[in-house]
Amino acid sequence: MSIADGIAKAAANVVKMEANTMQIFSRNPRGSGYKNYSADEVEKFQKIRKENHFGPLLAHAPYTMNLASAQEKVYEFACMVIREDIARMDALGIENIVFHPGSHTGIGAEAGVKNIIVGLNQAITGNESITVLLETMSGKGTEIGVTFEELKKIRDGVEHPERIGICLDTCHVFSAGYDIVNNLEGVLSEFDRVLGLELLKAIHLNDSMMPFGSHKDRHATIGSGEIGLEALLKVMEHPALRELPFYLETPLDDAGHRDEIQMLKEKLK
Ligand code: FE
Ligand code: FE
Ligand code: ZN
Repeated sequence: MSIADGIAKAAANVVKMEANTMQIFSRNPRGSGYKNYSADEVEKFQKIRKENHFGPLLAHAPYTMNLASAQEKVYEFACMVIREDIARMDALGIENIVFHPGSHTGIGAEAGVKNIIVGLNQAITGNESITVLLETMSGKGTEIGVTFEELKKIRDGVEHPERIGICLDTCHVFSAGYDIVNNLEGVLSEFDRVLGLELLKAIHLNDSMMPFGSHKDRHATIGSGEIGLEALLKVMEHPALRELPFYLETPLDDAGHRDEIQMLKEKLK
């Protein structure tokens, strides 16, 4: 959800859409800038959130950040962004912040994972309330985080693993080759075996324009992609997942998302 008009306005929009949680960008998703919210605005935001009993909120770090990079400038920027945004989002009382682990761009996954771990260690003090979520990725290019094992390596490597959780993106895992359409049970037991289901804190609910195992990341609106409505409803209704917060990242505007949420509520009845 866009916070160009401020965080209180975004929260008010959520209420209009008859939703009860939201994902916001922690700063400009394709740049580096951010706005400082006035005390008045933050107070409004907290009031709306409280009065409407919002579930856990999720902040998304910018796409321009690559914590796996071996290029000094790129890496220093990523370290600064994740450090600042963990602190900024924690100060707002946001429950979770998610980031794309990164792309190793040729240095190899192992070296990339090492960079991510060092980057997280300089960003997480261990005194935060916020949980830092690693997102499951589709594996386009040299992306890290395509397998549950890779995410596990990152978590196990940091000084404060207790502050690290996972955000599962349905489009990404499907395109990464985890068959949530024909074998949701198998995928979840694999997740549980490698990472532990208790680490799963959020779901990005998206359909996929690209086929199973294609390693391509193109979100589709719910029901219009290769995953399909039926399989996504099963994800929402699964006993291990149904209490989690779900965030739509489908290519729609606010009005479209309101309709999509309405449709899902209808189907889940
Ligand atoms: Fe993402
Ligand atoms: Fe996502
Ligand atoms: Zn994506």
